[in-house]
Amino acid sequence: MYDLIIIGGGPAGITAGIYAIRKKLNTLLVSKDFVGQAGESSLIENWPGEKQISGAQLLLKMKNHLESLGAEIKQEEVKNIEKKDCFIVETSQGSRYQAKAVIVASGALPRTLGIKGEKEFIGRGVSYCAICDAPFFNQKIVAVIGGGNSGLETALDLTKYAKKIYILEFSSKIKADEVLQERIRKETKIEIILGAQAQEIRGDSFVKELVYIDRKTKKEKTLQIDGVFVQIGRIPASWFVKGELVDLTPRGEIKIDLNTNQTKTPGLFAAGDVTSILYKQIIIAAGEGAKAALSCYSYLKQE
Ligand SMILES: Cc1cc2nc3c(=O)[nH]c(=O)nc-3n(C[C@H](O)[C@H](O)[C@H](O)COP(=O)(O)OP(=O)(O)OC[C@H]3O[C@@H](n4cnc5c(N)ncnc54)[C@H](O)[C@@H]3O)c2cc1C
Repeated sequence: MYDLIIIGGGPAGITAGIYAIRKKLNTLLVSKDFVGQAGESSLIENWPGEKQISGAQLLLKMKNHLESLGAEIKQEEVKNIEKKDCFIVETSQGSRYQAKAVIVASGALPRTLGIKGEKEFIGRGVSYCAICDAPFFNQKIVAVIGGGNSGLETALDLTKYAKKIYILEFSSKIKADEVLQERIRKETKIEIILGAQAQEIRGDSFVKELVYIDRKTKKEKTLQIDGVFVQIGRIPASWFVKGELVDLTPRGEIKIDLNTNQTKTPGLFAAGDVTSILYKQIIIAAGEGAKAALSCYSYLKQE
């Protein structure tokens, strides 16, 4: 029986792990991977102490820090949490771990478009991760759907490979940070199409066309492309936590007490992008992970 199981190996989970181990809690961290969302960013410029660092490097540093403290880590996917006398955490790999307390720090997953052709062409031209897939589009034409920070970052990552990049934004204005917009304006390969609603992805063995509606003229238009990168936001990875243990927002975010990070179930805490906190950023997720671990320590001491 562990004192604490942490689910998720992103900034929130790793920070929670560092704090818990330093409090001498017998801790297990279970994560599907150690990439998370931060690992998808090629350039992070707002982590204090690192003027510029790739997400993958930052995550590796965090993981090394956790491991240097002797953390016990399992690379598995959690599929269920139950509460009986203690918490039981079940994984898709068939393990059942027990703990007195749990911190859910499972972050968020890419939101899908839900249009015709999207699912069919995943891995054949449709991608959700530029860091992972951009090199496959050398000298190709690609479309990025979404003009937020992730969409613009994805387009910038693609400039190293693709010969032409369209950014399709649903609204009439790009909402990404000004610093990213400035960079995009300097890139001659990138063309922004505003007021564009993606309709269908077509192709044969690989993606060939993207059909969208020009929301101003209501006309259907077609782009000849080789790939589509979908960057229209994220959904909280809360699917494995049952409704009787936690309250969720309509978006699926886990509701927590903002002071203690505890959910409605005593001993069950949550931290980072999977929760209803306002800003989804690395430093905030890390801070929330620290808060959750400290609250968990107080809870276990009282118990
Ligand atoms: C492309 C991109 C660029 C970004 N750039 C920046 C930036 O420059 N600066 C910034 O501050 N923020 C940036 N962000 C936001 C930032 O990455 C997130 O706010 C932060 O990573 C949230 O941390 P987290 O630990 O809550 O979740 P995540 O980073 O999502 O980590 C969650 C972890 O949980 C694991 N997990 C999920 N489900 C399960 C399960 N069922 N079982 C086991 N493990 C599971 C995942 O595999 C992952 O390892 C960016 C995000 C994206 C997508």
